[in-house]
Amino acid sequence: MEILQLPAFFPDATYASIHSLPFHEIYEKLSGIVVTSLHMKLVGMIELLEKSTKALKQESINVDYRTVSKFPEDKIILSDSGGFQILSLIHKHKLGKITEEGAVFRMPDSKKVKRLLTPESSQEIQAAIGSNIRVVLDVPLFGTEERETTLQAMEQTTRWAERAKTTFKALKQESTKESNVFYDGKTLRFDRPLLCAVVQGGNDPELRAESGRQLSSIGFDLYGFGGWPIDKDGVFNTKIVEVFVNSLPSGSITYGMGVGTPDDIELCYKIGMTVFDCVIPTRNARHGSLFVHKGNGEKAGRTFDLVRIGAQRYETDMGPIDKDCDCPTCKNYTRAYIRFLQKKKNPVGYTLASLHNVWWYLEFVERLKNKA
Ligand SMILES: [Zn+2]
Repeated sequence: MEILQLPAFFPDATYASIHSLPFHEIYEKLSGIVVTSLHMKLVGMIELLEKSTKALKQESINVDYRTVSKFPEDKIILSDSGGFQILSLIHKHKLGKITEEGAVFRMPDSKKVKRLLTPESSQEIQAAIGSNIRVVLDVPLFGTEERETTLQAMEQTTRWAERAKTTFKALKQESTKESNVFYDGKTLRFDRPLLCAVVQGGNDPELRAESGRQLSSIGFDLYGFGGWPIDKDGVFNTKIVEVFVNSLPSGSITYGMGVGTPDDIELCYKIGMTVFDCVIPTRNARHGSLFVHKGNGEKAGRTFDLVRIGAQRYETDMGPIDKDCDCPTCKNYTRAYIRFLQKKKNPVGYTLASLHNVWWYLEFVERLKNKA
């Protein structure tokens, strides 16, 4: 039986590892990770799993990502569907198109090679990964499109979600007996992989609510917020998050995909979202932007301050990044040393900063739980 305490934040392990941060360094705090199906396929991880399975020569044993990485059994692996990459490659870079069958796209480094990702193949990749939580392929948008485009993407997302669920159920070892999943509002217990639908509809309240209704009538274990809850002025759109949560049956588990800054996470949690993932802690760490408690750094958000470690003022600072953080980086290293390493582009400087930021985020989400 898998056990997941909510709310939970999963750092992104896009390319099969958390950027600059070996898993074991963060096990103490970690409840799970998010891996990206498309990247796992493109970097050759799926091929490695297939080769390793063949090398075992035992038909009944499948080597999955957990077997290869030795990622602990008590931690969750959530795999995304590839939908977000479609947003980036097709909508932004015009490297492909959406058809009823699936997404046909080309990668920026090999533009001549066309690839097809379908709702079915996305589920097959995620089954090969062996993830605990799997996401259906959706048709994501930026939220600024015309109503007709948003409507079509929303309806196609529903059709794809049905196809994904059929494949999810057909893959071996998967049953969808409701009795195998228990959620009491705080703790989620399950003994089979879970399937997450992605609610679309952009910033249009009617379409967002309709998407929630359509998907929940098919029935999924979790519901993700697809696209960005950002309005046309660039402001976080709490109204649309409320519409999303209210369009689902009460007690549904909701996932803020790619959310966000600590301020955004807090806002979404108050509305009812409980699962989050984001690249911000690791990406900011590599750029020397470190999260600290209010009052321990430069003024930044409502719930956090920042130490921009590259600044001259930290050159000889013998204090920890955040005096109120008990992560291994803060316990064992000074701001001056981390600044020095990052200035010299020493990879340990990025690892120490990532360890602090991810730890800080996990503690932040833990505090939300305790506040409630
Ligand atoms: Zn720390």
